[in-house]
Amino acid sequence: MQAIAKGGFFISAIMKEFIMSEKRTEIGELGEFGLIDRLHQKVKINQESTLKGIGDDAAVIAAGDHVKVVTTDLLLEGVHFDLSYAPLPHVGFKAVAVNISDVAAMNAIPKQITVSIAITNRFSVEAVEALYSGINAACEHFGVDLIGGDTTSSRSGLVISITAIGEAQKEQLSYRSGAKENDIICVTGDLGGAFIGLQVLEREKQVFLANPNMQPELDKYQIVTARQLRPDARMDIIHELREMGVVPTSMLDVSDGLASELFHICKSSKVGVTIYEDKLPIDKQTYDTAVELNMDPTTCVLNGGEDYELLFTITQEDFKKLEKHPDIHFIGYVNKEEDGKNLVTKSGPAVALKAQGWKHF
Ligand code: ADP
Ligand code: MG
Repeated sequence: MQAIAKGGFFISAIMKEFIMSEKRTEIGELGEFGLIDRLHQKVKINQESTLKGIGDDAAVIAAGDHVKVVTTDLLLEGVHFDLSYAPLPHVGFKAVAVNISDVAAMNAIPKQITVSIAITNRFSVEAVEALYSGINAACEHFGVDLIGGDTTSSRSGLVISITAIGEAQKEQLSYRSGAKENDIICVTGDLGGAFIGLQVLEREKQVFLANPNMQPELDKYQIVTARQLRPDARMDIIHELREMGVVPTSMLDVSDGLASELFHICKSSKVGVTIYEDKLPIDKQTYDTAVELNMDPTTCVLNGGEDYELLFTITQEDFKKLEKHPDIHFIGYVNKEEDGKNLVTKSGPAVALKAQGWKHF
């Protein structure tokens, strides 16, 4: 490659052409999803075995009489976790759980993971072992095997990239695109806790930085801080759905916030939704802490991320099978695309649902 000198550095002629000719678009203008959409447009699928590429919680690959699902997530110190309050074993557990959650979101069973890490010399062997104690605990918890990865050095903190591989029968898969008019919208567990937990941990960190003699007061906030630091993936629900013979018509996991995930279902399935504020599940500690922090609990439920609960839609017939389940909540229904995305508020009127999600850029 022909190289030219610029500002004391050598850059390739190809790079120069790119810098000179391309219009510059800020990533913030497109946002994370806009950027992925734009990259997706230029991706060509060459293999018949690629049943689903970009655009769902995991990719789907034909594998004989069944299918494999593959998903990957990247966690960066200072962006996704803060080691001043996140213990390394928890970081390891969470890094696995968030990937297992994407396998669950396809209605598949996780089988293997690979783990790649980049570390600075700030970390000792014992610190890396502490991280792996959490990774190994998660492998045990979810019944998956750690089968490989990569290790390299980093100049800016700890980086963890995990890939999870799962299996399912093709007809058992739940894509984001299968929701139909009149389906019932379900969500597991409770929402908003991880977001509130993060607010509490950040607040206590600031108190500690201002006065290192102050001990953080976290006893009162154990549920919400645990939701942030050591989330579980709802494989229990996936196994129960199988036992009850229910295949959700669409499903994803709540990583970016309920409203944002509902928007994904609407876009992929070409439908609209109506959800009811009074049906949204919130834990008492999440509610009380939101009020204490002067935050609107409903906003936390709709837009707080990282709960790793499952959001799915089922047919009216399947409703009877799940009706009595103590940890599945029925929050609304699917309507025609032209009827929009609606939130029926506690005070009565329906308002347009807004998706704030997590803004990475
Ligand atoms: P999730 O929140 O479920 O992990 P994401 O929003 O991260 O999903 O990703 C949505 C889709 O975009 C997935 O199919 C994912 O594999 C794909 N994707 C994300 N980033 C990239 C990238 N840099 N290149 C190609 N595909 C990507
Ligand atoms: Mg997901």
